[in-house]
Amino acid sequence: MTVFVLDSGAIIFGVDLKGAVTTNLIIDEVKSRNATWNLETLENDGLEVLTPKSEWLKKAREGAKGSGDLRKLSKADISIIALALELDGTILTDDYAVQNVASILSLKCLPVEKEKIGKVLKWEWLCKKCKKKLESEDECPICGGTAYRRVVRPRL
Ligand SMILES: [Zn+2]
Repeated sequence: MTVFVLDSGAIIFGVDLKGAVTTNLIIDEVKSRNATWNLETLENDGLEVLTPKSEWLKKAREGAKGSGDLRKLSKADISIIALALELDGTILTDDYAVQNVASILSLKCLPVEKEKIGKVLKWEWLCKKCKKKLESEDECPICGGTAYRRVVRPRL
């Protein structure tokens, strides 16, 4: 089974995959952008938050140096490259610098917004309390619960 390593853009965009992985630094990035609404969905689908081993971080940094991208990459970017190396995973990212380093390191990379992954994502609103589908993000007309947004899942 392919391991998909998600960058913050993929999480924020709303990619919803079973058994995806990411790193703490990426989660921090997502949280700092107040884009946590998709995290719950991913967590329900078994998102694993892992820390790549230092040897792989070193390899990722070396690769980035080699391609001249090191200065364009955040620590979070390096962390997902390292994790992809460690797990032989496929990185989901729209970041050109990450894609560039990934190709140098012979890692597989998929763009987030292309058909292969994203298809066209649809959203639905659900009541947090009674889980009823709602028309909008307003509170639930039945129980008054607050709404949360969920991806109508694209199947891979
Ligand atoms: Zn409700």
